[in-house]
Amino acid sequence: MVRIKQSTDCDVLIAGAGPAGAVAAFYLAGSGYKVCVLDKDRFPRDKVCGDFVGPVGLVELLRLGVTRQPAYQQSNKIFSASCYLDGGQLVSAPIPPIDGLPPFGRVIPRMQLDQWILEAAQGAGATILEGYRVKDVMLHDDAVMVVAEYGKQTSRLRARLLIGADGSNSIVARALRGHAPADHDRIVAIRAYYENVAGPHDQADLYFSGDSFPGYCWLFPTGGGGANVGVGVASQTMPKTKFALKSLLQQLIEQDHALGRRLRHARIVTKVGGWPLTTYNHRLPIVWDRVMLAGDAAGLINPLNGEGIQYALLSGRWAAHYAVQGLCHDTLAQSHLMPYARTVESELRYDMSISNMIVQLIRNRSLNPLWLRALQVIGTAAREQPGYAAVAGGVLAGLIPANNLLGQKIIWGSIKQAAISLGGEALIRSIYDPAGSMRDGFDVSKAGVKMAFDTMRNPLDSLKWGMGVTGSAAELTKQVYRDAAGRVTAKRSV
Ligand SMILES: Cc1cc2nc3c(=O)[nH]c(=O)nc-3n(C[C@H](O)[C@H](O)[C@H](O)COP(=O)(O)OP(=O)(O)OC[C@H]3O[C@@H](n4cnc5c(N)ncnc54)[C@H](O)[C@@H]3O)c2cc1C
Repeated sequence: MVRIKQSTDCDVLIAGAGPAGAVAAFYLAGSGYKVCVLDKDRFPRDKVCGDFVGPVGLVELLRLGVTRQPAYQQSNKIFSASCYLDGGQLVSAPIPPIDGLPPFGRVIPRMQLDQWILEAAQGAGATILEGYRVKDVMLHDDAVMVVAEYGKQTSRLRARLLIGADGSNSIVARALRGHAPADHDRIVAIRAYYENVAGPHDQADLYFSGDSFPGYCWLFPTGGGGANVGVGVASQTMPKTKFALKSLLQQLIEQDHALGRRLRHARIVTKVGGWPLTTYNHRLPIVWDRVMLAGDAAGLINPLNGEGIQYALLSGRWAAHYAVQGLCHDTLAQSHLMPYARTVESELRYDMSISNMIVQLIRNRSLNPLWLRALQVIGTAAREQPGYAAVAGGVLAGLIPANNLLGQKIIWGSIKQAAISLGGEALIRSIYDPAGSMRDGFDVSKAGVKMAFDTMRNPLDSLKWGMGVTGSAAELTKQVYRDAAGRVTAKRSV
């Protein structure tokens, strides 16, 4: 192992002590490196989140030893997921059994979860510096320097490597990329905790409504009659105020029968907290000389369902794996850290691109009747075929990897049927089976753009939407080709 140089304070600085940063710290400190984690907050701290950790995330927690915590064992298990549209149940299905994964998820308040992961990192030997806010990053030939504020003091810390795990408003990403995340890569969401919520307490619910589509609401039971309830929408479809989201949530609670049933006797017990989510944009770099991004800072959020904890845990572990190789041979140039970026891309980009495509499509509110009808088609088929229900429920609730081809067929088949029932022949031709070929992928986008122009009154909105769809369709087609070439594996390889 190449030892730390005199001119640096530690081998690795990690900005952010959330799941991504704490996991990276756990593995790096466990490999014998001197690791300092900086966080602006003091732990235990809350983080606005739905708190749902899916089966993939639970396997990562097992690796960290977090599952030995007595309170972990008491956290609420979720065995099934249900989707509702305008108060009627569309799909209800158990979490499907997948090799090597538990057939359940858990709802774990972030106040606890993040503290446990951080304790694991500390136990492995990492130093946690709380109350340190990262303000800037400077790259030098032999080190990376982080400028951080602690109260009124400014500190300069030098390390051989920096991992930016400072969340969706990442200062590290902004400093290296030179700009903040674009609006079309953002989802905005709010959540609050309720008590005295009606069961079933082992079922996670998603609620769609014609009025608020493409936004949706979730209810994740926390155990003991409590629940985490929230609403999320693509940033561009919403006025930029927390009040707009709050009133959307209130409106859904009052008007949606299914959600209303759950919350009829419930009391809100916390403030409504809001936070943006930055979704994955494959065009943006996530490694530079001596710097890597992980978790939300790298945009590793599924744009369809807002899930990000499992990606934070996975990317933190992958970042540590490649960081150890670079530190060991003192090869920390961008080119040597690229295998990390390639791992993120090969393991996650396919999932993200399918979700991105769907989100880009449903962003066009004038096509709401089509997407809502597609949800109804899924619901009808799910009631008739249990196998379909299992996969559709799994895909919609983000429990089945999107690279499951059956999932794709369900999504596209349902949109096709919905389009048939709405008489949209042109749309059928254009969007059915986008996986067919590169040419078809571009046809999808061309037809999408044309349709947007035909159906929307505001040409500027149409243009933006069409460009989003074009980009997503091209990206999805590329990923389908990669998948066909066998480069995407269902199992995580690192
Ligand atoms: C409303 C909402 C609901 C969600 N629901 C779910 C869900 O149910 N399931 C799921 O899987 N995902 C969900 N997510 C996404 C999930 O919260 C994130 O993907 C996850 O927290 C990512 O972990 P992270 O470690 O990358 O970032 P974070 O958890 O955000 O941690 C980043 C850390 O960096 C620190 N930090 C930030 N800036 C600085 C700075 N300048 N200097 C020092 N420290 C800094 C922060 O204090 C924080 O501790 C939800 C998100 C939102 C907003």
